[in-house]
Amino acid sequence: MKFSNSYINLGSDFFQAELPEKVSKPKLLLFNKALAKQLDMTAQLTTDDELLADFFTGNQILPGAQPIALAYAGHQFGGFNPQLGDGRAVLLGEVIDANGQRQDIQLKGSGRTPFSRQGDGKCAIGPALREYIMSEAMQALGVPTSRCLAVAATGDTVYRETIKPGAVVTRVAESHIRVGTFQYFAARGNTQALKQLTQYAIARHFPEITIDVENRPLEFLKAVIAKQIKLIVSWMRVGFIHGVMNTDNNSISGETIDFGPCAMMGTYHPGTVFSSIDTQGRYAFANQPHIAQWNMARLAECLLPLIDEDSDKALALVEPIIIKFSADFDNAYFTMLANKLGFTDLDLIGKESIEQLLSLMQDLELDHTITFANLTLSLTSPDHAEQLKAHLGNWYESWRLALNQNNISDAQAQKLMAQNNPVVIPRNHHVEAILAHCEATLDMSLANEFLQVLRAPYQVLANTQKYQDASADNDQGYRTFCGT
Ligand code: AMP
Ligand code: MG
Repeated sequence: MKFSNSYINLGSDFFQAELPEKVSKPKLLLFNKALAKQLDMTAQLTTDDELLADFFTGNQILPGAQPIALAYAGHQFGGFNPQLGDGRAVLLGEVIDANGQRQDIQLKGSGRTPFSRQGDGKCAIGPALREYIMSEAMQALGVPTSRCLAVAATGDTVYRETIKPGAVVTRVAESHIRVGTFQYFAARGNTQALKQLTQYAIARHFPEITIDVENRPLEFLKAVIAKQIKLIVSWMRVGFIHGVMNTDNNSISGETIDFGPCAMMGTYHPGTVFSSIDTQGRYAFANQPHIAQWNMARLAECLLPLIDEDSDKALALVEPIIIKFSADFDNAYFTMLANKLGFTDLDLIGKESIEQLLSLMQDLELDHTITFANLTLSLTSPDHAEQLKAHLGNWYESWRLALNQNNISDAQAQKLMAQNNPVVIPRNHHVEAILAHCEATLDMSLANEFLQVLRAPYQVLANTQKYQDASADNDQGYRTFCGT
């Protein structure tokens, strides 16, 4: 792994240099060999687990790493905090991966930093493993996401509601620039830094916005929004609920970051929320597009002075772009659902029929993943077709008729559906059972078995069936917590 650090060149307004804290007994729990290969870690791959544990707890600093804690602000549940920042993470630096993509390498749970406020800077094993498992699952599902290279136990204890074993998770992401990073400088009236950050983010994530493009900050906003729409649509395709879409957890690169209180929706209901602190349902399943739009409006506010010196003119340029989010999202969202039903285009089935299905699923309390997987199967399995007809009645017949009328063969439809409808997702009850087992035993064999299944979510492998079932209580009592 060869570091090629660039964020550090933005200057000291953007970060605080901070070394990870030493840990007492590093032990490698999970190491992502496929990702290590992608990051060109051939040298590290041949080294032993002890050295890897040292590197990925921060006990030893990887050659070329320059650890820094990044500054950012953020709206948390709608309230603005001008000073957040990496309170329990350090960016080791950046590497160029095998695809030529620049990737951040970050240690999370590596101790206190100048941004820690009241926090201890640490992470418990449970949330660290959860981030690893969930991000691997998302990657395999085809959702843009940060990834995990390693989870290593520290041998130290972490004080939460009870005493927990500590861990450090190594996160890999296209960058850690957040909406909140822009807000940090906007809140300080630091237009110079905002300019610098925007130029940097464009060069790193949107090189197609070349230097000669007119009004680059405006084009940047449009490009970030386009990626956000793709991201939220893919979350909703698989039933993912992020749980804490604060602007500091909203990456400019359009990747899923921060898996603290995230969960998967089982029974289809737009109002599904699991996070214990989200009492108002701000981040409920179907509210995610509205929040993404709200977050993009916060980004737009930061960019106003760069878009035009005349604030009225800047606002007039930005407003239609934010408004357009809704229509663009709607179109992408319903097209995604059309794909889940075997149609390449929304026009072939229409919004109304899709809405009918969703409201049937809600009324009948059907499982999101199982329903779409069974619809896929029903094209070749008369048993599944009968079962769905019994549930969905006329809708089922009308769907088959629409496929027919559009000359879409069962095989064609099934192919498209199988690519869009996973047969297995990281269901909450399985994730929790495995985390509890791992935390108690530090034995990763079950986690590895689960990961093997989750890495092929569109295929039925030998162990897939073990993880497909909804929980006994349909997650009625399920609650998640921020990973603090
Ligand atoms: P999160 O909820 O993980 O997105 O974190 C929100 C903010 O709280 C970020 O600035 C984190 O760095 C900070 N934070 C969360 N947990 C801790 C912790 N245990 N110690 C220090 N800072 C933390
Ligand atoms: Mg965060």
